[in-house]
Amino acid sequence: MGLSERARALVRPEVADLEPYDPGFVECRVNLSANESTWPRPPALERAVREALAATPLNRYPDPMANGLRDALAAWHGVDRSQVVVGNGGDELIFDLLLAFGGAGRTVLDMPPTFSVYDIYGRLVGSTVVAVPRDPETFEPAWDEVLAAARTADVAVLTTPNNPTGNTVAPDRVEALCEACPGVVLVDEAYGEFAPSMGSAAALLDRHPNLCVLHTLSKAFAMAGARVGYILASPELVDVFAAVRQPYTVNVLSQAAATAVVEGRDLALAAVADVVAERTRLTGGLRALGLRVWDSEANFVLVRVPDAHAVRQRLARDFSILVRDLSFAPGLRDCLRVTVGTPEEDDAVLDALRRILRPVPSSS
Ligand SMILES: *Cc1c(COP(=O)(O)O)cnc(C)c1O
Repeated sequence: MGLSERARALVRPEVADLEPYDPGFVECRVNLSANESTWPRPPALERAVREALAATPLNRYPDPMANGLRDALAAWHGVDRSQVVVGNGGDELIFDLLLAFGGAGRTVLDMPPTFSVYDIYGRLVGSTVVAVPRDPETFEPAWDEVLAAARTADVAVLTTPNNPTGNTVAPDRVEALCEACPGVVLVDEAYGEFAPSMGSAAALLDRHPNLCVLHTLSKAFAMAGARVGYILASPELVDVFAAVRQPYTVNVLSQAAATAVVEGRDLALAAVADVVAERTRLTGGLRALGLRVWDSEANFVLVRVPDAHAVRQRLARDFSILVRDLSFAPGLRDCLRVTVGTPEEDDAVLDALRRILRPVPSSS
């Protein structure tokens, strides 16, 4: 549902064709639609978070740059505080980046199918979004075209592992992109923790001052509700974020909780191995139903089902299970994205799909 005629007449042209964001949330028993963590936090870490929250006064404005959290993140990643900027979720930093480096008369290179936010925010701030589609079978970026388009791009965005396809790209490709693009390269590693063998693009920061590496606490750290993301980049790019971002965007409670989680990251990240093992099991279970499932290095899998839209509706209506329907997106015909849940949640999905896809019980 788009904006009303009257609203369209009032807004800037870039806004007129946008639609109010609707992630399709409804109350349900099993929600595997948004790649959140559904695993319980280790009790010791949960206690640390609760204590940090309880000790945080609310009368003062937050530290604008969240320096305590920045220091914890810098220590973890082995960089200087001046190379870290924190945002109200990674999404806000994507917006800030496009606001600062995109805009009217400037181009943003996008590689769909991928996270839709780059395209939406890119157009919202007035940039021309140049889309170079990925290979329709493997979802590998079309490197020859990508590198050619990068040469005239003000911003290039590469997601690895990619959402919603789950695949990663080799580090030498990231480096080639940084070399080809005279503008800023955003490497979105929102799911990087689930792909331990991938190697973070942060290793390239010393050689490439135009590189921004995005991370979030929303996925592997089970903090989606707190809205905390961060970018690692050269100090000169961090200064740009410091100039365009809203000063008090990361509130005191989120700063406190996030600092506790980053300091307790060993406990938090221990669960990642469980998610990775469960991802293998879910992938196998879906393939055993005869479905096409792409290998994923994130905390979700992309699966092709006959009539995805109907399957998604039946999952929600008859089984109270929510998954993401991506079948409307170019290149994702009949695809659903299923977050890796707990073993019980994944069994619920597999069981429901078994019934939906084979409605007639066999007599054998
Ligand atoms: C979830 C996600 C983000 C950021 O999420 P926040 O909750 O805003 O931190 C960024 N990029 C991709 C590809 C994501 O899937």
